[in-house]
Amino acid sequence: MENKWRKIEEELNFLKDHNLYRTLKPIEPVCGAHVKFHGRDMITLSSNNYLNLSNHDAVKEFAKKSLNMYGVGSGGSRLTTGNTEMHEMLEKRLASFKHTEAALVFNTGYVANLATISALCEKNNVIFSDEWNHASIIDGCRMSKADVVIYKHNNMVDLEKKVQHYPGKRGLLVSDAVFSMDGDIVNLPELMRIADTYGFLSMIDEAHATGVIGKTGRGTAEYYGLKKPPDIFMGTLSKAIGSEGGFVCGNTELIEYLKNKARGFIFSTSLSPVVIAASCMAIEVIETNPEIVKQLQENVKWFCQCLQGNGIKTCSQTAIVPMIIGDERKALAISRELFEKGFDIPAIRYPTVPKGSARLRVTLMSAHTKKELHDAAEAIGRLVHSACPSAS
Ligand SMILES: *Cc1c(COP(=O)(O)O)cnc(C)c1O
Repeated sequence: MENKWRKIEEELNFLKDHNLYRTLKPIEPVCGAHVKFHGRDMITLSSNNYLNLSNHDAVKEFAKKSLNMYGVGSGGSRLTTGNTEMHEMLEKRLASFKHTEAALVFNTGYVANLATISALCEKNNVIFSDEWNHASIIDGCRMSKADVVIYKHNNMVDLEKKVQHYPGKRGLLVSDAVFSMDGDIVNLPELMRIADTYGFLSMIDEAHATGVIGKTGRGTAEYYGLKKPPDIFMGTLSKAIGSEGGFVCGNTELIEYLKNKARGFIFSTSLSPVVIAASCMAIEVIETNPEIVKQLQENVKWFCQCLQGNGIKTCSQTAIVPMIIGDERKALAISRELFEKGFDIPAIRYPTVPKGSARLRVTLMSAHTKKELHDAAEAIGRLVHSACPSAS
């Protein structure tokens, strides 16, 4: 008889043999960008808690207040008994923050993409998707059963050429706003022009843009100074907002449609009012203290300068700073040595990025000090140069 565990064992062994095996490590947040790992103080350069709002006093106080008012769990889906005033307040705030008519909160950003894309598109529709889009967009496209056309990364000439092959079709152009493994920004004005010219919906995933880019952290539309947002702004509450959940912002018709059609919204218990309250207050903090966004943006500039001073030519407009190493084993070895030195910087490998393009991926926080970033850049420079003498 076939051994029912054999396939699983073989797969795990394959991952281990190819330096692709992943494990969890328990980390204890301490303060700012400091974490404790097995009792050791470390500086994390891999958190998405960009503005340190998960630990902000006013955010925590408001979450506690909501805990005392509503209890822990919401007890039902939004359409049954799980819809509190806190949930509706958050949606009003999100819509106002993103300058759209309305917003809808989902349980995670991952579900927001799955539920929205599969509600908007169906068999015989077509979705144009950037080759480097996030896994949740890819999975949403698959779930929709629409035809999926992949265009070259952020290449609007390639996108337009491909769009022209589908005259009269209904569908969607979808892209990350800030690409999560490379930290570059979508050419949104051009993407929207193409969407409008050929009559497709436009959707942008602002997971790493909200709270990060644009003068006051409002994301890609603010970054480009656009008068009108794309049709669908999707985002997460779990990164710069420091809490949990995902969202979609757009016009009232879109949001009403999703309330009625998005299965990931309809068939799941709504988020705890505790995290909903935290998100509400986090947005208020960003709106009233835009200098925390500025602090993050200044840290990016400073860190890139420090890297360049250590012979690493990397530069980023966002809080994501990748350093391509190539070889999976080398990237892993450098990441381990940095860990020994007290810097938590992960090696990102296949299947998150293509094979042979393994990289160190730094993410910055407003809470990092100049000295911490200076020291990290120095350690990275030394290790990268000794592992890859040709790197520059
Ligand atoms: C993190 C991320 C998501 C998923 O958001 P979660 O709230 O963590 O589920 C979606 N899209 C992109 C681009 C992301 O980086």
